Amino acid sequence: MERSTIVRVHEGLHARPATRFVKLAKGFESDVELVKDGKAVSAKSSVKLMLLAVKENQEVTVRANGADAIEAIEALIGYLENPRAGLDDEGEAGEGGSEAAAPAPEATPSAAAPADGTPKLQGVAASEGVAIGPAFAHFPAEIEGPGRRLRADEIDGELDRFRDAVAAVQARMDRTLAENNLSAGDRGIVAALRDIAADDGLTGEAEKLIREGDDAVSAVIGAAATIAADFSAVDDHYLNARADDVHAVGRQICLVLLGQDDVSLETIPQGAILIADDIGAWDLARAPLKRIGGVVCGHGGATSHIAIIARSHGIPAVLGLGDKVNELRTAKEVAIDGNAGHVVVDPDEAARAGFTRRVEAAAQERAGLTVFKSVTPTRADGTVIEVAANIGSLEEIEAAQDAGAMGVGLFRTELLFMRHMHLPSEDMQAETYSALAKAFAPHPVIVRTLDIGGDKPIAGIEFPDEENPFLGWRGIRMCLDRPDIFKKQLRALLRAAVHGNIKVMLPMVSEIAEVTRTRALVAQCADELKAEGVPHAGFDLGVMIETPAAVLIAPALAKEVAFFSIGTNDLTQYIMAADRLNPTVAKLNDVTNPAVMSAIELTAKAGVAAGIMVGMCGEAAGRPDLIPGFIGMGLTELSMSPASIQRAKKTIAAMANGSG
Ligand code: PEP
Ligand code: MG
Repeated sequence: MERSTIVRVHEGLHARPATRFVKLAKGFESDVELVKDGKAVSAKSSVKLMLLAVKENQEVTVRANGADAIEAIEALIGYLENPRAGLDDEGEAGEGGSEAAAPAPEATPSAAAPADGTPKLQGVAASEGVAIGPAFAHFPAEIEGPGRRLRADEIDGELDRFRDAVAAVQARMDRTLAENNLSAGDRGIVAALRDIAADDGLTGEAEKLIREGDDAVSAVIGAAATIAADFSAVDDHYLNARADDVHAVGRQICLVLLGQDDVSLETIPQGAILIADDIGAWDLARAPLKRIGGVVCGHGGATSHIAIIARSHGIPAVLGLGDKVNELRTAKEVAIDGNAGHVVVDPDEAARAGFTRRVEAAAQERAGLTVFKSVTPTRADGTVIEVAANIGSLEEIEAAQDAGAMGVGLFRTELLFMRHMHLPSEDMQAETYSALAKAFAPHPVIVRTLDIGGDKPIAGIEFPDEENPFLGWRGIRMCLDRPDIFKKQLRALLRAAVHGNIKVMLPMVSEIAEVTRTRALVAQCADELKAEGVPHAGFDLGVMIETPAAVLIAPALAKEVAFFSIGTNDLTQYIMAADRLNPTVAKLNDVTNPAVMSAIELTAKAGVAAGIMVGMCGEAAGRPDLIPGFIGMGLTELSMSPASIQRAKKTIAAMANGSG
């Protein structure tokens, strides 16, 4: 018995909707298959279902055979025809999988080695700070199958051994999930791996190989290679990334079969520098991050999973060393400079003394700053200066709160779009923005609408080839041309505003019409939500001042918006006509250049005259040497990376006391 339909599930049967579909299918006794383009797979395997790569608006057939076939077809077709299927769920943050940690906002190419003569390895400066400590090399050996052929009378026993190993791995993952001390992102990672371990896509393939006479370890390695290759071959970046997850699960099953423990990060000594070629999602989810003094990796860059985790936990990291990481395999002691991207292997006395001094000075400064965590800094006249955090993912909330952030002054939503490899749904965005609003209420959370351009393409949006992407179709320009994408984000923000103090700001604004057109779209979204009976609330709309045009029309813009937030990173590059990523013009890319400073002053003047809040969320906002000047100009909000918050509060407090 079978029935065909057009899939209406939003964005198709990617990870979460596929898992839900499988859960539903497993509730029926009948054998159920999903057929697309003549290819049929079991509807009870999420791995196989994901590999079918069923997209929204494609035609599929549900085929069922068994006592409850009619009910199964009815239920599964109903699911496929529901655009919201798989989206309203138990509140997982994100969709799990090893993409769960967001990429970092800025890649920081490392500086050249300092001229003190100490031999250094150069990598990518991925998380700031200095560290020195014992080396902890984490290079888990590849597992090789014995390649033994089973006799016919050994096969059943080997199948039992294999199933016991799978059960043990599942139980361990369930225990990890139950311990409940994982962050939302880490839970997503473990849950995605557990799904693969529990799914008969990988295990079914391994059992087939065992039945054909392979020993269990060789069968698991073979099955993982086949399934991972299938994931790698699909034309979908999100699914490509699942290949690593399959290998990670296969490895865990093999280790149980071999009676071996993995090279575990659980034994890492306090303050050690973790050295690895790469660190997998599973390892990372279980790593005792509080004990790790620093991280050095062959793979990865400033935008990788490990970089964002390191930054959000304040762990200095140098990544992307490539093969040079092998020089550290036998190191006893390692020193790293996460600001410059340097690694020193077995430092000599002088280098050790230098690093130790820097580590101590940093620790001393940090300790002295913690008293400022709960300080509410004010100007001499008593006006509160909001010192807020720049973040790009829910995983960074904790670091921001630990630092004493008075809300979020810049939530970079593009990371949400980049990490998922397909456009995030309205529900998923609403869930994320609501979580943020709740976490910081009553403080404001300023969410920046999608700021993406030709230099940073994302899946799901086709970008034109552009000679000058920084001067091209990006930020608010792209959003207004793609109301289908923009409205989803605005609707999600209106929904989230019910849960706290959400404010919204537009990037790359260069004319007033961009604000008025956005306002009209917001009103349209609010009307739609009202008609649909969906709870929502209004929000303050502001703009980033980061183009020279915005500075020059600031007095008129100020009449249209609730606040300004000065984006000095872009403002500097556009005022100085000096690409912020081009090292050869780095000298011109200087916020303290009088041209940039006068643009900031003009902006502040216009905002203050109109009586709106003027803030800053570019890197300059966290510079103690510049903060007094900005406050003198009338800025009342400064948003920065969590690591800079306490220092900024101290600077402002000193000003109010007359000592700054
Ligand atoms: C800026 O341009 O100053 C800013 C904060 O935005 P981004 O660095 O994300 O472009
Ligand atoms: Mg910018």
